Amino acid sequence: MNNKYLILVNRNNQISEKYECEIVNCDSIYAKDRKLEKETYLQFKKLEDFISKKGYTIAIESGYRSYDYQKKVWNEILISKGIEYTEKFVAKPGYSEHQTGLAVDFLLYENGNFYDDVKMLGHPVLKLVADNAWKFGFIIRYPLGKEKITEYGYEPWHLRYVKNKKIAKYIKDNNLCLEEYLDMLKK
Ligand SMILES: [Zn+2]
Repeated sequence: MNNKYLILVNRNNQISEKYECEIVNCDSIYAKDRKLEKETYLQFKKLEDFISKKGYTIAIESGYRSYDYQKKVWNEILISKGIEYTEKFVAKPGYSEHQTGLAVDFLLYENGNFYDDVKMLGHPVLKLVADNAWKFGFIIRYPLGKEKITEYGYEPWHLRYVKNKKIAKYIKDNNLCLEEYLDMLKK
């Protein structure tokens, strides 16, 4: 794949340990030390602004995670919880999309509290993001009903930057996941 913004990383497609992209420090009201690929960050800020004009505050919870960081997390959880738990819930180093710098987990800030992952389920902000993320080049990476293909549960808070808005809109309008879109390109 020549287009780096369409890179596929999942449980069967490993990212090279040498993968490099331009990583920048992010400004997030949630945490100070988050990082993302440069363009992903710029576009996420625009999405954040758009959502804020609709009356909700979202922020970066998790962005770029390096290979070494993922390895550290993997080893720590392996020691404390054992292999079965670790394999089920933690991405192996090299298999986390967060290593691309193109993945953002966002959370919601409302009435002085942060709401992340399942605590946001049912909140209107999720639909607002799902309907509009394409305008900024993002897709919902782990959509509902695609669990067998993505091998991840529904994660409406995990956005993936694909850059091209037409592609992002096409994926949304046709209810595809990234794996299905890339398969379609091959045919
Ligand atoms: Zn994520």
